[in-house]
Amino acid sequence: MTTMQSQEHVVILGGGLAGSLFALYLARRGARVDVYERRADPRKLGVTKGGRSINLGLSKRGITSLAEVGLRDEVLATAVAMEGRVIHDLDGAQHFQPYGKNRQEVLHSIDRNELNEILLDRAEEHPNVALHFEHRCVAIDHATREVSIEKPGGTIERLRADWFLGADGAFSKVREEMQRGLRANYSREFLEWGYKELTLPANADGSSQLKLNALHVWPRGHCLIVSHANRNGSHTLTLFLPFEGPDSFEHIHGRADIERLFRKFFPDLAPLLPDLCDEWERHPTGTLVTTKTAPWHLDDWLVLVGDACHAVYPFYGQGMNSAFEDCAALSRALAQHADRATAFREYERSRKPHTDTLAELSKANFVELRQKVASPLFLLRKRLDVFLNRLAPEGWLPLYTMIAHTTIPYGDALVRARKQDRVLLAVATTAAAIAVLGAALLVR
Ligand SMILES: Cc1cc2nc3c(=O)[nH]c(=O)nc-3n(C[C@H](O)[C@H](O)[C@H](O)COP(=O)(O)OP(=O)(O)OC[C@H]3O[C@@H](n4cnc5c(N)ncnc54)[C@H](O)[C@@H]3O)c2cc1C
Repeated sequence: MTTMQSQEHVVILGGGLAGSLFALYLARRGARVDVYERRADPRKLGVTKGGRSINLGLSKRGITSLAEVGLRDEVLATAVAMEGRVIHDLDGAQHFQPYGKNRQEVLHSIDRNELNEILLDRAEEHPNVALHFEHRCVAIDHATREVSIEKPGGTIERLRADWFLGADGAFSKVREEMQRGLRANYSREFLEWGYKELTLPANADGSSQLKLNALHVWPRGHCLIVSHANRNGSHTLTLFLPFEGPDSFEHIHGRADIERLFRKFFPDLAPLLPDLCDEWERHPTGTLVTTKTAPWHLDDWLVLVGDACHAVYPFYGQGMNSAFEDCAALSRALAQHADRATAFREYERSRKPHTDTLAELSKANFVELRQKVASPLFLLRKRLDVFLNRLAPEGWLPLYTMIAHTTIPYGDALVRARKQDRVLLAVATTAAAIAVLGAALLVR
């Protein structure tokens, strides 16, 4: 019998965003849950109280899942709403591009650590959820269906459970162990750009040096900075820069190189970053990876969610949102199918084509953010999309709107956007043909 029953025992491997959210889904369904997380308890480290953090854009899909576990309002209270993008040109000029047609269509800038802490706090409040920090999954035994965990001090414990959830992120050990010896597909693609996080502090009075309710973008073709606002008026900047070649990470060897890079590409920003060089030294350079894999589950006892089965580049701001959507989809599949293997299969079938599409959209959006956002043709197309969307709110939905402000599956959104592109192209071609014909008639 593999139905989801009360006091069924589930072990979650990875207590990041997806793992801690799914613990809540399970707890609400009456399961006994143990979460094993490799890192120390972030709530004890106090990372949100002055330490380094990263900001994410939370949008409709993520909010919908948070609402299902009753956390929508609590989480949104910690976020800063972003109504659109401010594009910063090299000469300092700024242009605002709204995210949607009204105030509902906004993104929310959220501190990843703070969000993780809320999810952990709420999960821990359930008497049937136990969190185990500094416990790392190191191996999985397919024959005995046991997972080996390395505990603080290096001792190994073998765990049994009714089933296991792998939520251990982009470099998932659970996925690797789960697929060992199987005919499993796996691909990993590293971006040739890395990233560095920097801080733009608030003014002395706590006000923001930039428009607070917006995502700021410095698109430079070769490189890019994106900034998310914090509640305290500061902004967390992420610089994306090539690893190799001219003006790349490999050529930055000290303060003079950092300052030269910023004078060349971000002259308006440099004076606003008093800790630029110190932060550059202190903060590691991050890598970005896209992964695709199949299968996502093993029989009826092991299944993956989030980055563990589909890491994407962050340029569509959908990694966490899609991981949260996974949690909702898996929970739904478990409720709908008495047989757990069927539930896992249905969950994978319903999600994988769409997360594969998201991976491609996220790659394409890197080009958009780096160079297209500043092009007049791109702006014209955006304005036309927003105009048509206002005219026919249900009939015409720009791709960005469908991805960020709806829960239309990613693949369906892309199909619909391509149809709209064809309509626009046909209209533009017809208009051009009429114009040419009119001009020819006039000449005659
Ligand atoms: C620069 C950047 C910007 C981003 N911006 C956005 C954005 O704006 N919007 C958005 O939606 N997404 C964004 N993302 C993506 C988002 O951060 C991820 O998609 C999201 O964190 C995935 O959640 P997860 O729980 O699957 O993985 P993670 O959050 O990575 O959590 C995995 C957890 O598993 C733990 N773990 C790892 N190995 C083991 C092990 N062997 N045993 C036990 N525990 C283990 C880790 O310590 C971690 O806590 C961004 C990512 C980056 C890098």
